[in-house]
Order: sequence, then C-alpha cells, then structure tokens
Amino acid sequence: MIKDKLADKHVAKPVYISRQGERRAGGLTEWLAPSQLLSLIVLAVSLFFTYQLWNEARNNAEKALQSDFDYLVRESNRRIEQRMQTYEQVLRGAVALFAASDDVTRQEFHEYVSALRLDEHYPGIEGIGFSIPVPPAQKASHITAIRNEGFPDYSIKPEGERDVYTSIVYLEPFSGRNLRAFGYDMYTDPVRRAAMQQARDSGRAAASGKVTLVQDAGHDIQTGFLLYLPVYRNGAPHDTVTERRASFAGWIYAPFRISDLMAGLNGEKSETLDVSLYDGNSVSGDALMHGDSEFNGIRQSPTRFVRAHHISIGGHDWTVITRAQPGFEQQIERGKAPIILRAGIAASVLLTLLAWLLVDDRARALQAARQALRLALYDILTDLPNRKLFTDRLLQALAKAKRDKAQVAVMFIDLDKFKPVNDQYGHAIGDLLLKEVANRLEECVRQSDTVARLGGDEFVVLLPYAKENHGDMIVAGKILKALSEPFQIAGQALHISSSIGIAVYPQDGDTEKLLLKNADIAMYHAKKSGRNNVKFFHPDMEEGGK
Ligand code: GH3
Ligand code: MG
Repeated sequence: MIKDKLADKHVAKPVYISRQGERRAGGLTEWLAPSQLLSLIVLAVSLFFTYQLWNEARNNAEKALQSDFDYLVRESNRRIEQRMQTYEQVLRGAVALFAASDDVTRQEFHEYVSALRLDEHYPGIEGIGFSIPVPPAQKASHITAIRNEGFPDYSIKPEGERDVYTSIVYLEPFSGRNLRAFGYDMYTDPVRRAAMQQARDSGRAAASGKVTLVQDAGHDIQTGFLLYLPVYRNGAPHDTVTERRASFAGWIYAPFRISDLMAGLNGEKSETLDVSLYDGNSVSGDALMHGDSEFNGIRQSPTRFVRAHHISIGGHDWTVITRAQPGFEQQIERGKAPIILRAGIAASVLLTLLAWLLVDDRARALQAARQALRLALYDILTDLPNRKLFTDRLLQALAKAKRDKAQVAVMFIDLDKFKPVNDQYGHAIGDLLLKEVANRLEECVRQSDTVARLGGDEFVVLLPYAKENHGDMIVAGKILKALSEPFQIAGQALHISSSIGIAVYPQDGDTEKLLLKNADIAMYHAKKSGRNNVKFFHPDMEEGGK
C-alpha cells in the first residue's frame, strides 16, 4: 500500500514529506505541527485549571479574611462599649458615695477619686466632677459659701443673668487643666445641657454630643464628650420625671478626651484597623469625633474591608466606621493562592514540554520511517525514481500492454563526456549538473511517463503505450536537444550531450530485464557511432561494453 502511494507521486501527494521537507495541510495545522498544536492545547488546559484553582484559593482567602475582619470589627466595637460601661460604672461609684452620705465634702470626694487612680486605670477620662443646679435666688449665697471654703476667686462662669445656673463645684483631680472648669456653668452650652437634662429626667447615664472641653480651651484642643449621671436627694422619691426633677441634687459627670480614650483601645491589632468615630447616626465632616475623615481625601483608597456600626453610649448614638489598613487586604496575596499560581504555571510548562517531547518524538519516528521507505524507491540526489521503482513500473506497464496489445518503449540515456565535468569542476558541480539533467528530462516527457536514474550518469525513461517508433523518436529528439543545450551551473556554462538507446515491447523483448538490456545495447551503439544521437535496438547489434 505504502509503496503504491509513494510510487505515484503525481497522484498521491505525501502530507508530511516532500522535496522541500515537511509540508502541512489545512487550517491551524498549516502553521503548527501536530506536536506544537497538542502542546498548546495542553498548555491552555493546564493554565485554565491553574487559573481555576488560583481563583478558588483567592476567593477562599478573601472569605476567610472577610470573616476575620468582621470578627475584628465586632471586637473593636465591643471594646469601645465595654470601656464606656466601665466608665459609667466608675461614675456610678461616685453616685453611690452621695447615696451613702447626706453631705459629701470636698475632701471626701477628693479622697474617693484619688483612690480610683484615674490616670493609671482609666485612660481618656479627664476627671470626675460634681455639678449642681443653683437657683438664681441662691446664687450670691452659693458663691459666698464656696469662696469661704478658701477659693476667693470663685464665681459661676460665664457671668451674666440667667434663669437657671449650674456650677461645677467639685472636680478631681483638682489641678492643672481641671482648675479651668471650676465654677463653669455647663448649662450655658446647649450640647451639654441636653445631656444634663436627659440624665436628670431619665435617672440614667447620658452622654453629650461632641464638644470642645473647657479644660482644653486655648491650646491642645481635643474633641471630647461628657457622661452625666444624676444624683437625687437621699430619701426623696424619684420614680417619675416630676419626682426626679423635684429631688434632683446634681450631676456626677466625667469629661473625656476622645483620642486618649481611643488610644490603645484596639490592643495588639491596632495596626490592622482604622477606626473613625462620628457623633450621631450620620457620617459628616462636622460630626467626626475621632480618626480620619471619610471626606478629607486620606480615606480615598478603596477597600472591601470597611464596616459602619452604630453603638449607643449613655443613650447617645455614635457611628463607628472601621476600615482595614492597606496591609490587611494584602494578606490575600500572602496566602496559598500565589503558591498555587506559581506551582500551577510551573507544572503547566513542564506538562507542555513533556507533551511536546513525547509527540514530537513520535512524529520524528514516523517521519524517519517514511523517509526510509522513500529512500528505498527514490534516488537521493535527483529525487527521481530509482532502479527498483522503475522496474516496478515497467512490470506494470508491460502487464497492461500485454492485455491491451499495446507497446512500451524503454529509453536508456547515458550522458556524454560527463566525467571531464567532474574532473574539471569537481564532484559537487557534477552533482548539480545531474540534478539539472533530471529536471530537463522530466520536462521532456508526459506525466504518465517515468524518468528514473539508474546510477552515475545513466538515466532511463519509460514510455507506456508508445504506438510507433515515430512517437519515441520525437521524445528522444527532444531529450537530445534539451541535454545538448549549455547548462548554467555555479556561474559556469557546461556543455554535454547524451547518447540514447531505445528498446520497444513487444518486438525487442517481452521482459523488463531484456528490454533494459537491449536499450542499453542500443545506447552503446549510439555512443560508438559518435555520441549525441539515438539508436533503436536491432537484433543484429553486438552487445557493448556496458
Ligand atoms: P562517456 O561519454 O563514455 O559516457 O563517458 P563519461 O565521461 O560520461 O563517463 P562514464 O559515463 O563512463 O562514467 C560516468 C561518470 O560519472 C563516472 C563517475 O566519475 C561519475 N559519477 C558517477 N556517479 C556520480 C555521482 O553521483 N556524482 C557525480 N558528480 N559523478 C558521478
Ligand atoms: Mg557517460
């Protein structure tokens, strides 16, 4: 089968092998060898799976990080609320001090607050104070009484006539910045007053909105807020708002500097989270109490890790915006995903190489096998059929001619004076000349004819269905003329000619051997009669030296 395919090169074109080497057929395969195509597919598929795995690992890492973040946010908010509850507890202790004694003296208050060691245990709390309402009618006597305690400069600040006065009478620690608040009427500030009234009327802790602390006036201004708890006269009922207003004695309160309060609140994780506090339930530049504003440009870097929560401190709402710092999100890149990506790419490349090597090896083996078959049937120099293939075709032609009662001519061609070309210009030039001779011979015959090289400078032509000698003569004449034209090879004009002998079936022999032999004899006679001519075999011809 293979022999048949290769034998008729005019009909069946080999797909992989041609004179030019590898030839490819159709579509993608025109550009890519099968091994390359398969390798590309392996690469694409393995990269696709790598992408899928990487993507999943990333998604998982992101989910894990998201729940980590949510946990951290909950913890952070819980710590803020817990701290405020602790402060409320501290103030409740001071309220209890008043409940235990009808008249808490300045000294007793001082001792109680000193014992708490605020700066050590309660960061952010500026102090604990006691403010009382002063009816306008008692204002003068109140001022006199305090001045007589040893504070000759005492007065209710700010000055001026009002319907209601309040005054901070105790504030511990009674030193430094706190001295500025002594005598301050917090009722004059609507933000403070709202919380004070709320505490008085509800009987519960009430936090103020955002304020600038009186202690901070002038320098090192920090945003703060105040937490108030009401004190009622001992023994008086305070179950209703009316009763509470009637038995009201004053406010235990604490001022807080918000940044001191927040400092260190997030413990060891503080470098991961960024917390901003807003007064109330809305987020605006004015309401910002702590942290970077969402509005000043610092916060513009987008992150998926941001949460808003409302927390309630002493009946007052705060909005807490918690964001992950940039490093937090980058943890995704430090997880398993990048390892999977790198390993996946490496594995894909290896797999691709392996596929390429395996398939290419197989392709090379196939090609080598085809080449070997081809070598068995074709002349390696001129690519013409060799003696074996020629004999094969001659046998076929004879079988057919026997059936059809037709003729077959065999033409034996030997180049004249070829050896001197070799001797003068070298073997390589001789080779080029032989190739060119092969081309010219093929141009002289029809597709159904066969030109073959037997070896050296000997060629044969098979002309099936030659009807009469006249037809063979025309072909022989064409060949004689074609080969006597000068050859331009490597810049040289080479001159040769040819001697041709012809034997025809059936009259000159009915086997392939006999026909070839007789054509050779005829050629020998052509040589003998001066070269560059054609001789038909005749039974009288003597056998030559070839
Ligand atoms: P004649 O006219 O009698 O045919 O003489 P010639 O010079 O053509 O020599 P001959 O046919 O007797 O011998 C052919 C020469 O071709 C002999 C050898 O040196 C040379 N030859 C044989 N095979 C090859 C080949 O593959 N390549 C080349 N360059 N030369 C070859
Ligand atoms: Mg010769």
